[in-house]
Amino acid sequence: MKRVLIATFMQETGSFNPKPMIYDDFNILRGQEILDAFRQSGGSTRGTVEVLDKRDDIEIVPTYAAWSGTGGPVATADLDRLIGELLEAVESESNIDGVCLALHGAMAGESEDDPEGRVIEGIRKHVGDVPLTASMDLHGIITDRIIEGIDAISFLHTYPHVDQQETGARAAQNLLKMLDGEVKNPVTARVKIPLLARGNELITKTGKFGEAIQMCQAFEATPGGVAAGVNIGNPFTDVPDLRSNTIVTTDGDEARAQEEAMKLARFMWANRNLWFADLMSMVEIVERAEEKDGLTVCGDPADSTASGASGDSNAILKGLLEYNYSKRALIFIVDAPAVASAFEAGVGSSFNVPLGGSIDKERFSPLEAEVYVQALSDGLYGGGPVPGRAGRTAKLRLKQHTVVASERAAATTSSAFFLSQGEDPRDYDFVVAKSPNGFRTHYEPLASQILYADVPGSTSANLKTLPYRRCPRPIFPLDEDVEAGF
Ligand SMILES: [Zn+2]
Repeated sequence: MKRVLIATFMQETGSFNPKPMIYDDFNILRGQEILDAFRQSGGSTRGTVEVLDKRDDIEIVPTYAAWSGTGGPVATADLDRLIGELLEAVESESNIDGVCLALHGAMAGESEDDPEGRVIEGIRKHVGDVPLTASMDLHGIITDRIIEGIDAISFLHTYPHVDQQETGARAAQNLLKMLDGEVKNPVTARVKIPLLARGNELITKTGKFGEAIQMCQAFEATPGGVAAGVNIGNPFTDVPDLRSNTIVTTDGDEARAQEEAMKLARFMWANRNLWFADLMSMVEIVERAEEKDGLTVCGDPADSTASGASGDSNAILKGLLEYNYSKRALIFIVDAPAVASAFEAGVGSSFNVPLGGSIDKERFSPLEAEVYVQALSDGLYGGGPVPGRAGRTAKLRLKQHTVVASERAAATTSSAFFLSQGEDPRDYDFVVAKSPNGFRTHYEPLASQILYADVPGSTSANLKTLPYRRCPRPIFPLDEDVEAGF
């Protein structure tokens, strides 16, 4: 019997979101709870567990799983506590033959640029030189410590992401190959690309980025091709290792790994002018939404609660009101003070409230509005191993529109949150998805058109508007005349 240790550690940081994340924002499961939850549902951890479960000669050693939605940098004491608990759970286990981790990769602390690297280093120190694989999002931050500590990284191969489970499975399969002696000597090459990428060409199903991913998949299907991935960083995690990378692992063939990583890097660099987002002014959005029948889905990449933004933007709502949008819109906003006022006023009451701009005060100013409180709730929503927690939530009517205000950021990449509030986007003419592209998986079949708003926000796809301080420079597209360096 071989003992395979598993752990999950995931969060995606938006460094320009002024609200830090805390311990309580994380979902935490320990030991057997992890298996119980992820055997039912979930992403990469589930994929890993499913593969390992199939083997009679493998004992899964579940230790610690901490994951959350996206948000600002994790507060120092809270991050120390999370990492401390994870490593404590790992250190309480002995005789470990292999490790398979489920990571996101774009986590940052207020005073820690590389939380995942710290976790990997701590695990390595305890388990020693045993095979260690991991699944990661393609939006992670890749440090030397991560490359050194992991024998093979399996990156997501889809964007919008729909292959989390498969990726967790690939990481587990690689681990089994190493334990079985089928892969003897994993060697990894990485090429750093001074590039930040955004936009629709990244959509793997239709865009140019899909070609790079197909090259990775073709490589992984060859003998000795252990793992290949194109990592595009998370442009909002402003840390010294923010960039794009190509990362390739072979079985013992260093030159081949290097060659493949270089080929992928050259492809990404040659196409660098394609990786930008096409955004539209609010005037034009209102015009187009008025003209078109059916549901207009408006992406708000700048206040993406799927990318680390604060979620308190009222910019699209303001635009709809300013340009007299005549149909009905459904909008989510993070606004704890407005929620508190609504709970105080009660269902059925009307009152004036400043809406939005309660967190990211530099980017958004409150909108004075008269609202009617239609319903109040606990803000629990969705499926998954544990429910999403938006905190206390108020459904407010503002003129003909519905504004769902919550204490905390909720995911609006699908209808799940709105449905939990008794609202179906299909009953509206306009819905805002606070997301750059991830919402397309769910909304494409429902939408008559998809537009992207050019509004401010801490995760703006217009990267030049963001106050980068720490990422390496020069970097494309922030700087002119950037040299690839390879
Ligand atoms: Zn991602």
